[in-house]
Amino acid sequence: MVRYFIWTIGCQMNKAESQRIAGYLDAAGYQVAASFADADLVVLNTCVVRQSAENKVLGTLGLLKGLKNKHPNLQILVTGCLVNSNTQELKRRFPHVNLLFKPGDYPELIAWGQEQGMLIEQRLPRCPSTALKASAHYNDARMTSSPCVYIPIIQGCDNFCSYCIVPYRRGREVSRPMDDIVYEVKELARQGIKEITLLGQNVDSYGHDLPEHTDLADLLNELNSIDDLARIRFLTNHPKDISLKLIDAVASLNKVCGHLELPVQAGDDDILKAMIRGYTVEQYKELVRTIRRKMPKISLSTDLIVGFPGETEEQFEHSLSLVNEMRFDVVHVAAYSPRPGTLAWREYQDNIPGEVKKERLHKIEELQAAIAGEINSQLQGKELEVLVEGNKAGKWFGHTRSNKLVFFEDAGAWLGQLARIGIDKTSPWSLVGKVKNNQGKEDAWKEIV
Ligand code: SF4
Repeated sequence: MVRYFIWTIGCQMNKAESQRIAGYLDAAGYQVAASFADADLVVLNTCVVRQSAENKVLGTLGLLKGLKNKHPNLQILVTGCLVNSNTQELKRRFPHVNLLFKPGDYPELIAWGQEQGMLIEQRLPRCPSTALKASAHYNDARMTSSPCVYIPIIQGCDNFCSYCIVPYRRGREVSRPMDDIVYEVKELARQGIKEITLLGQNVDSYGHDLPEHTDLADLLNELNSIDDLARIRFLTNHPKDISLKLIDAVASLNKVCGHLELPVQAGDDDILKAMIRGYTVEQYKELVRTIRRKMPKISLSTDLIVGFPGETEEQFEHSLSLVNEMRFDVVHVAAYSPRPGTLAWREYQDNIPGEVKKERLHKIEELQAAIAGEINSQLQGKELEVLVEGNKAGKWFGHTRSNKLVFFEDAGAWLGQLARIGIDKTSPWSLVGKVKNNQGKEDAWKEIV
């Protein structure tokens, strides 16, 4: 019996692609191994968006080299953002790797598998979408662990923000046909999946390259009518590309969760310009005002970079005061990390010392912890709908529609269920509560708070 182990680092897109690779391997009759050491085939799904992630990837490749010396039959496959178009150079650096394939390049994986005599293609259906069967198969197995699944709907990015490596590694935007996605989601819902998250590096661009020019709002409308599906999420938005039509769709469709990821990246106009983000701070604020006018209870997350080349103390203060003013539910903050090949790497010196970056990062984190603490404390005593995703150390956990993480203890079998939880403890990062009367589950599909 051939056993495989998939190691994944990075964004949700990587997680989704790992799900799909697992689907192909499952369909070929392979079994999941508990660790690298137990595996005959290892897949590394890599991220190089920051130097720290790249270091972990390189460290893991070094570890596998040692493992392969001991077990020469170990097959090592590498995908994700480490794999650029110069695979020859990567092959030279990592001769112990058997296959390097670009993110989402499943035909390359299949061709390699066939060369090895794997039953990788024969087990997959030819239409309407080979990818569907792969993910559906995987999710069959996954139902023992989670009722939620990620679904890539658009690959690549056309934006070229000056600090970002993604467009160089994942290429230009390519949307999946809408019929294909709708078919896949119907299948998944039929198998018991309750929540889907549609993924794209810039999800707002979905459909511009399709012959029918359908967009994300059209797709949400279609998916909202699928019986058995309880929740729809999507990420990541770009403030310059999100449309009013999409905001209206989120406001009006009952299965689309009231939570938006809207990365601002900086609170200073000059830094935003150097980042090539395509909007000003005022335009961003106006967008948030519009969203909140239409959906006063919307939960908003953002991403922020500190220590971009040349960022002065005053410019950093602008980011700090934007966070203070916007009152986001979540802020993902990262220190600028120069990425070879990007415009910022070519044009600007990474001249903010590491200590200063760290200090700025902590200031944002501290401020945001206080804000999130206040926002979450308002949920004390409320009843929230939680989709239960798993059990850790005797505690059930899941998320609300507004994406708050909730823990509760109960003897019932809650996996995959929508539970009505009364909140009795809050913190900036999670909520704790107890099961309330859950009769009339259809009811619980509506937002309770
Ligand atoms: S929108 Fe900008 S930050 Fe996001 S993936 Fe594209 S280039 Fe990178």
